[in-house]
Amino acid sequence: MKLHEYQAKSLLRDHGVPVPEGRVARTPAEAETIAREIGCPVMVKAQVLVGGRGKAGGVKMAADPKEAGARARDILGMTIKGIEVQQVLVARAVDITAEYYVSLTVDRAAKAIQCIASASGGMEIEEIAVKEPHKIIRFALDPELGLVRERHFDALARAFSPTSLAEQAWTIVGGMYRLFTGKDCSLVEINPCALTPAGSLVAADAKVIFDDNALYRHPELESLRSPEEYGEDEMDAKSSGLSYVGLDGTIGCIVNGAGLSMATMDLIKYFGGSPANFLDVGGSSNPEKVLNALRIISRNPRVTAILINIFGGITRCDDIARGILMAREKLHIPVPLTIRLIGTNEKEGRDLLEAAGIDAYTDLTEAVQAVVAQVPGEKVRA
Ligand code: GDP
Ligand code: MN
Repeated sequence: MKLHEYQAKSLLRDHGVPVPEGRVARTPAEAETIAREIGCPVMVKAQVLVGGRGKAGGVKMAADPKEAGARARDILGMTIKGIEVQQVLVARAVDITAEYYVSLTVDRAAKAIQCIASASGGMEIEEIAVKEPHKIIRFALDPELGLVRERHFDALARAFSPTSLAEQAWTIVGGMYRLFTGKDCSLVEINPCALTPAGSLVAADAKVIFDDNALYRHPELESLRSPEEYGEDEMDAKSSGLSYVGLDGTIGCIVNGAGLSMATMDLIKYFGGSPANFLDVGGSSNPEKVLNALRIISRNPRVTAILINIFGGITRCDDIARGILMAREKLHIPVPLTIRLIGTNEKEGRDLLEAAGIDAYTDLTEAVQAVVAQVPGEKVRA
């Protein structure tokens, strides 16, 4: 679960990290009022759950309250990476003399929280990694010991020098670490961590992502969820008991099991196609689930072909077949449907489909090749 910048900054402030004063506005008039109250110049910043807002024109400075209102009017109308801006953060502008980067993430390979820091902040870390890889420092925190001055201070000080700056960075990373572990985050990032002419570090931008699998331990975080994180299809799928993730390809996928879904998407890619989504109908799929899955996928205008891949275990092929027939009756499915069906109650399932004039593959490779061949302009790899 991702937080907006203003929410992330508020949590960081609670954990002792210096953050510029600011509040959220939904209208230009509100932005003007906030700018008057906190004092100018201010930054007016689009609150959308994507990075690179600055480059997209979603971060603007305003010298006085009137201008803050005008900038808010510009930004509130914008769409950034497909997301409409509905609120802006109006925050005291920091006078910035240098931009640093600092983050905590989970390093799965090291089974530890990893700290990444750089004196070349501002741009995205992927960009720093390409342009100035030698300027990135990383260190893993032993999960038993956490952040330990004797172990980690010198490493951090390589990104933040001189020592007086490293001391401030140490305090900031300490606060980030308490937030990270206390709320089970998967990312806490400050970029830029801004240096002011007075020599202080402040968090000019912040990102926080919570680990969804640990959210049950923090019911108080639920109120921070923003509907924008999940699109209409994701929400719809969730309430239908389906695991769904939208992607940008053209082949809609309905599969039973998360692992088989991943393998199916890999195979589609391998044969030159691109999946429009990940969708796991789950184990005990009743026909209703297949109907809902087809409903969600077939309204995606990018989808030009659909693949249903079922390896029946707990899932019964006849239930799936009933769902497909139900969908054919109730929905308009504007694209070809390719089905691969094997496993529990396969014969019953095939009989149901055959009676309706529908063929199903047994072999997954053949089914994937067939569905990729249906996509206009795609060449199936041999
Ligand atoms: P992002 O593009 O989504 O990462 O948004 P940021 O909040 O990081 O803003 C982008 C850039 O705007 C930063 O890298 C800064 O250069 C600039 N910026 C953001 N906040 C301030 C501020 O308070 N003062 C100044 N001078 N520049 C800022
Ligand atoms: Mn940023």
